[in-house]
Amino acid sequence: MAQLGEHMQRTKSEILHNEAQNHLVGGVNSPVRAFKSVHGNPIYFEKASGAIVIDVDGNKLVDFVQSWGPLIHGHSHPKIIEMVNKKMQNGTSFGAPHIGEIELAKRVKKRFSHMEKVRFVSSGTEAVMSAVRLARGYTGRDYLIKFEGCYHGHVDSLMVNSGSGMATFGIASSPGIPKNTVATTLVAPLDDDEAVEYLFQQHGDDIAAVVIEPLPANNGLLIQRKDFLIKLRNLCDKYGALLIFDEVISGFRFKDGSYGDLVGVTPDITSLGKVIGGGLPVGAYGARGEIMEKLSPIGPVYQAGTLSGNPLAMAAGMMTIDLLDDSAYDRLESLGLLLEESIKPVLEKHNHPVRLVRLGSLFWFSPGSGVPPSRADLIPKNAGELYSDIHKGLLEKGYMLAPSAYEIGFIATVHQEKHILGMVEALDEVLSDLM
Ligand SMILES: *Cc1c(COP(=O)(O)O)cnc(C)c1O
Repeated sequence: MAQLGEHMQRTKSEILHNEAQNHLVGGVNSPVRAFKSVHGNPIYFEKASGAIVIDVDGNKLVDFVQSWGPLIHGHSHPKIIEMVNKKMQNGTSFGAPHIGEIELAKRVKKRFSHMEKVRFVSSGTEAVMSAVRLARGYTGRDYLIKFEGCYHGHVDSLMVNSGSGMATFGIASSPGIPKNTVATTLVAPLDDDEAVEYLFQQHGDDIAAVVIEPLPANNGLLIQRKDFLIKLRNLCDKYGALLIFDEVISGFRFKDGSYGDLVGVTPDITSLGKVIGGGLPVGAYGARGEIMEKLSPIGPVYQAGTLSGNPLAMAAGMMTIDLLDDSAYDRLESLGLLLEESIKPVLEKHNHPVRLVRLGSLFWFSPGSGVPPSRADLIPKNAGELYSDIHKGLLEKGYMLAPSAYEIGFIATVHQEKHILGMVEALDEVLSDLM
């Protein structure tokens, strides 16, 4: 078996990828796994434990992707595996209520104190899609405001871009989405109070909700001014619209509460996913009772799911949250800080146009120099080019980062200092080679 850092052969991955392309579109079931934007081929995993994944060729990689966010305790955490295993003996799906749903709902509500009721679904996409329907049903209005560079899953009405820098009607980012579906989606740049104000002035009485990742983390890590988020809250209140925070990535990532708590803004509805399923498919949304009770079976807004509240998924989520005690959060923060502090001199030494943006256990190699961007259009157009050599170089040295310049990295509680320092050292070498 190849050890960390040895030259890696990927013969078996190549063979499987060739075969997969006969059966699966592009060989993958989610496009970003395809390595297209870093000009490589996907790596086939065999097994994973803690911070380490082992591919089908026996290469070991330190994983900073962690399944794109859910695995805050790393791969196959023994306690989560044990819990799921135990529950599995009692059945894999009930299609009927069980105590696990109550238990996970209690944990979610404890952290998201504005939620009086929770509804579980099976993915982040479903969570946001359903939150939007609920907001429209509750307000009796059709329009949405979303932000350029925020991703909310592949929800039709939110798969929308905007023209450069202007607040405008959305244009669908994918064929297959009817014009009429996005005709009620308004798009504003992030970090732009005036643009949102303008949209409310134009369409205020028709706007059902403002949907935002309060910590935008799907198009780089575009940290927002607190005042901007407060502004959104105030505009929603003034015009009777609901504020939806999509915390599918940021939820349960911070010691002091939701990201809303951190900035002192309480949304009307929060959507969750990723961490709350601990590696099994879970999404959730929640709000105060008056809003949630518009949902069927109490109210008229319909939303359902065969596998919603799945007992194995609830159990994985429960254990994941229970393992997130103060010391787990402190550990995530100190590992994040170690990354930030150790990488600084390396980036300075090489004068390479890439910055580290970090908040807690989330980090982004942000292509460019100077002040990190707060809006999608401030990310340099050559970001992909700047990133792909770094990605490839680190992969060769045994460190796996997301195969896209626009995706962030995830630190898990099981990462060790040597993994962080090893990655920084590898980056030092990669940047030297690039000179
Ligand atoms: C990942 C993500 C989604 C979509 O979740 P899926 O489980 O992939 O459907 C939605 N919103 C945000 C902010 C996300 O990070």
